[in-house]
Amino acid sequence: MARFKVMIERPVCISCESCVNICPEFWEMAPDGFSHLKDSKKVGENEEREVDDVSCNNDAAENCPATCIHVYDNGKRII
Ligand code: SF4
Repeated sequence: MARFKVMIERPVCISCESCVNICPEFWEMAPDGFSHLKDSKKVGENEEREVDDVSCNNDAAENCPATCIHVYDNGKRII
């Protein structure tokens, strides 16, 4: 199991594109106009992806104006 988990609460996204600009290797805008976490799995209305390297996702989460991106470190939410 990977150390980190990144997730997005998609219903809360306000389509500002900040995450896509900060961390394009992980984020893109989906056809429905909201952010999509690449290579993620859907969990209800949210998306989740486990990663060994959190990469730019901390910056993406910290700069999300809707605070709908979260990062977990070994199961503990850090953002
Ligand atoms: S930064 Fe947050 S609100 Fe903006 S597009 Fe990304 S997930 Fe949505």
